[in-house]
Amino acid sequence: MIEATDRKQEAIVADFPILAKLTSRGKRLVYLDSAASSQKPRAVIQALVDYYENDNANIHRGVYELAARATDAFESARAKVARFVNAADTAEIIWTRNTTEAINLVSFSWGLANLGPGDAILTTQLEHHSNLVPWQLLAAKTGAELRFIPADRDGVLALEHLDDLLAGVKLVALAHISNTIGSIAPLDVIVARAHAAGAVVLVDAAQSVPHMPVDVQALDVDFLAASGHKMCGPTGIGFLYGKRALLEAMPPFLTGGDMIKRVSYETTTYNELPWKFEAGTSNIADAIALGAAVDYLSDIGMDWVRAHEIRITAYALAQLRAFESRGLAVYGPPRAEDRAGVISFNLGDIHAHDLASILDTEGVCVRAGHHCTMPLMEKMGWPATARASFYLYNTEEDVDALIHALEKAAQVFRLT
Ligand code: PMP
Repeated sequence: MIEATDRKQEAIVADFPILAKLTSRGKRLVYLDSAASSQKPRAVIQALVDYYENDNANIHRGVYELAARATDAFESARAKVARFVNAADTAEIIWTRNTTEAINLVSFSWGLANLGPGDAILTTQLEHHSNLVPWQLLAAKTGAELRFIPADRDGVLALEHLDDLLAGVKLVALAHISNTIGSIAPLDVIVARAHAAGAVVLVDAAQSVPHMPVDVQALDVDFLAASGHKMCGPTGIGFLYGKRALLEAMPPFLTGGDMIKRVSYETTTYNELPWKFEAGTSNIADAIALGAAVDYLSDIGMDWVRAHEIRITAYALAQLRAFESRGLAVYGPPRAEDRAGVISFNLGDIHAHDLASILDTEGVCVRAGHHCTMPLMEKMGWPATARASFYLYNTEEDVDALIHALEKAAQVFRLT
């Protein structure tokens, strides 16, 4: 069993051409920044090349064979994404550039149409700026109040006062997984209580859809946003899932070509779902390549991806803890099973940017800074953290390389 897992792991690493490259210092590339963006397997890169070499044409309006082929590939990628998150209906998947645009779509379309003074939006203290700034702006525009579910030191949401916080709330918007400390939100509890209070729930799934099985019907979420580039797909493509009845009732977000049914000089009727929300020429090639990424992940199996990340995270947590006596602080839930493969840390009083630069000299890529969660960093009292994040192609060897690079940093800064 272990051997089979090892063989699968080796085959996965070999699927990602960039992982075979050396850094300019001749080091093996140890990519521990998949929470920011994942690497791409050959099948995804090839899907882009194949599209441009064989099928490239604008979609939907063309009557010729080439345009029909491009349209079929584009719409079949949408169906793949729908199956991947178990949407009841392919028309519930709207292509966007990324998670950020998907959240803005809901804010501008659903939010402006449904919120007013006296209403409230409930989010959490853990959110990425993408799932905070749109709601600040919406609250300012509509007169709605913005409230926060508090989080503890490990990034665990405090739900004792959830029912009080939900009074008057029309929208709950929260991240499934914190991109800074890796905690996982108890969506089962929050979604049920939000619905009981009459609120609609939007989940920022930027860090969950790439890393674990996500079933929008089982979770019973109303909206869910994700980015292709974090799930082995290209940049510039992401999606919004929305329940059909909500999407049907919403006004368009962006307007222009493709999202119309009929236009006169005076007025316009809008296209059916999902195209009502897809104005202008879509990012056809990247949508098709995201379909290839979904095929790739589905072939491996999202249960395997999650189990693998728990294994690597458990190993990393154990190795990092052995470093605690040397001044390493590790943040987030203590048990790998309770968190995602995202580990934020600081070493002594070394600034996270300096630490990341030293790790880089050893070929180890980690992110450093506020991770687009400035209010959370301020609340925790962390000027910055270094963050290692894992994906299906990371190995225990990568974790060992991280620990070795931390040894070097400790020596450089004389922490030993
Ligand atoms: N939400 C979370 C939790 C994220 O981790 C990220 C990306 N770091 C985003 C939203 C924004 O994703 P994108 O930049 O692809 O829109």
